[in-house]
Amino acid sequence: MVDPTSDIGEDVSEDDAPACETCGDVVVDEPDHRVVTWIEDAQVQSAHFCNGSCRTDWDGDR
Ligand SMILES: [Zn+2]
Repeated sequence: MVDPTSDIGEDVSEDDAPACETCGDVVVDEPDHRVVTWIEDAQVQSAHFCNGSCRTDWDGDR
C-alpha cells in the first residue's frame, strides 16, 4: 500500500533533509512536500517529492 500523506516530522535540518526523487531539490519546508512510503524487502522505503507534480512524474517512471 502507498501512503501519500505521511509526514517526516518537523525537526529536519537542511543537511538531513531528503532530496526530491524526481528533480533532486532538497525537500525542506516545502508546503507541497509529498512523501510516499512502501514496504520492500521487509523494510519501509520512502521517497520524497517537493510537490505533487514531481510525485506524479516519479510514478510514471515505475
Ligand atoms: Zn521535485
